[in-house]
Parts: sequence; structure tokens; C-alpha cells
Amino acid sequence: MTKETTYLELSDGKSHKFYEVTIDDVEVTVRYGRIGDAGKTTVTAYDNAEQAQKEASKLVNSKLKKGYERANKGDRIKQPISRSDRRLARLNHLRRTGWKPLIKPTLDAPLASKYLGKPWLSPGANYPHCPNCQGALNFHFQLNLQELPESLQGKFGTGLFQLFTCFSCYTQFPQILQLPEAANSTSLVTEITPEDAANLSTWAPYVIQTSGIDDFHGRYMLQIVGWQPFDDYPYYEEAQDTYGTEYSEYEEMLIFHVDEQDCEFYEEDDPDRPTPTDIQLAWDRTADKLSGWGYWGQSVEHQYCRICGQLMQLLYQLGQGIEYAGHQGMTYDTDNLLLVFQCAEHKEEFNCYGSAF
Ligand SMILES: [Zn+2]
Ligand SMILES: [Zn+2]
Repeated sequence: MTKETTYLELSDGKSHKFYEVTIDDVEVTVRYGRIGDAGKTTVTAYDNAEQAQKEASKLVNSKLKKGYERANKGDRIKQPISRSDRRLARLNHLRRTGWKPLIKPTLDAPLASKYLGKPWLSPGANYPHCPNCQGALNFHFQLNLQELPESLQGKFGTGLFQLFTCFSCYTQFPQILQLPEAANSTSLVTEITPEDAANLSTWAPYVIQTSGIDDFHGRYMLQIVGWQPFDDYPYYEEAQDTYGTEYSEYEEMLIFHVDEQDCEFYEEDDPDRPTPTDIQLAWDRTADKLSGWGYWGQSVEHQYCRICGQLMQLLYQLGQGIEYAGHQGMTYDTDNLLLVFQCAEHKEEFNCYGSAF
């Protein structure tokens, strides 16, 4: 008996993949993957040739129903792939690097990049109060700009970026403090006692889940111990209005919304099935991040410097995206994300935008 091969392709702008079924007597070989790749191969042996024929037809017909067409191998060529996430290769012109903060709960250190703890204050300075209601401001976040990833050094200035909020007036107070010469070490000098260690294991999940309410009055912090780069893409409205690029439904899902339920719409062997990495990336893009693109949520409102009129750059997206030991969360303010923009030229100039969704 001779081998009989059916070769199918699906190429429609969203997908670019093949499915090949070969019958060799009682054996059915299925090969599938991206067009131009070797793909994955599975071989199944059946009791007799007739059954092998029947099963092979079933496979081919199910793919034809899903839009695959009979094709000649080699007519369509492999699509250029420049990144690991090749499904978004079409959007290369929009890609920026965003940085996900990696968190470790520990004793507070004044100069660290951190959530919570105590803010570093210039020698002799008083704790900041709200100019409107005179209440003490809530300290949320601090970035040591010397500790940013190398490619971002200097982009946001030097010193410490700090973010205070008045929760009575719903106003944010971002600022940059220059550090004195001596203050360039963030090393921890205090030892963690067994009691601290025990406290930290409950404190960290607690503050993450309860929006950062700190019962320990700044004794502990969620220190940013590293940054993980990822490919970031603009909110769909910004991509469309500013760059004239419209996302397909599939791209938008992959970029911002994919979750485990979405995966169920795809068969296990479908190369378009989102991976756990896709789910993680979608979360990272809408979560806390340094640089990259802001997630606007409802509508895009570009922020301009009040001095020079330039479009401002995203410094940080702050919101629901702290992740530690399986806990995710830490709402910044009700259900909002806070986008912190800075003028690239006037680094003391900030605008904050609350993005509700
Ligand atoms: Zn106030
Ligand atoms: Zn400016």
C-alpha cells in the first residue's frame, strides 16, 4: 500500500499554520505547526488499514470545517520571525520594553526602590502634608533612579522618585529628590529577627491583598529587587489613533486579556492556543510596570508638559499588579490604575492619570 498525504493550510492574517495527515497502511502520521517549520509529529497505529483511513478522514474533515484549505507545500512561505512572540511580529513597530518589578518583602531601607515602608526625607525636611487639606500624605512608592535597568539609566533623571497621595483630596504628589553625596547605598543594616521573619510572611500577602494598608508603620517594605523586561504594546485606541494600526481581535486578546478560559477555545494541538507565558504577559502589561506603554482603560488622554508642551513619557504604571508568592493585587486607588508621566526634558514635571476600567 502506498502512502497517502493530505496537506492543509490556514493563513488568514491571524494564523499561518499547516496540518498534514499521512496514512501508511495502519499508521496515521499527523504533522502540524507554523508554515515553513518542521512542526510537531504524532504517529498512531490502528488495528487495520480501514480504521486508519476512517480516523484520518475524520481529522482532515474537522480541520476543513475550521477553515483550513488543501494547499501545495511551499506555495506559502514562512513568515519572518524576529522575536520569541512571533504571533505579534506584525506589531514590531509598536513594541517597547516594559519592566515588571520583582518584589521581596523585607525590613524597610530608606533609599530602596519600594512599595510602602518610609519615604526617604532630605535632612531636616518635615514629613510632607497636603497643601489643600493639610493632612499628612500617604506614602506609597519610591524608585531609586540609580537602580533602574541599564537601558533606562538617565531616562527619568537621578535621585529618588517618590509618590505621595492625599486620600482625602484624591490628589497625587509625585516628586524627585536629589540625594546627598553620602547617600548612595541601599544596603540593609538592620538584621531581620525571627519575629520579623514571621511577621513578614503574613504581612506581605496581607498588604498586597488589602491595598497596601500598612499596620507596621513603615517597619517593612516590599522592596523592588529586580526588573523583568517584557514586550509591551500600546492600548488598542492609542495604536489605532496614533499609529494607524488596528489590532485583530486575537492580537488584542493576546496583548491584554488572555486568561485560562480563552485557552479552552483552542485545541491542545492548535499553534494559536495561548500559552501560560501569554497569560502572564497579558497580566504584566496591565499590571504595575516601569516604562513601556500605559494601559488607558477607557480613553486615551495624552499628557503634555506644561512648560514645553511636549508629549510626556510613561515613568510608571501603578495599580493592581504586585505579585508575590502567588498573591496578586494591591489596588492603588479604588479600581484604578495610576499612570505617572514625566517630561523627558523637564524631569521635575509630572502628570498623573487615573485610568479606570
Ligand atoms: Zn488633601
Ligand atoms: Zn517639558
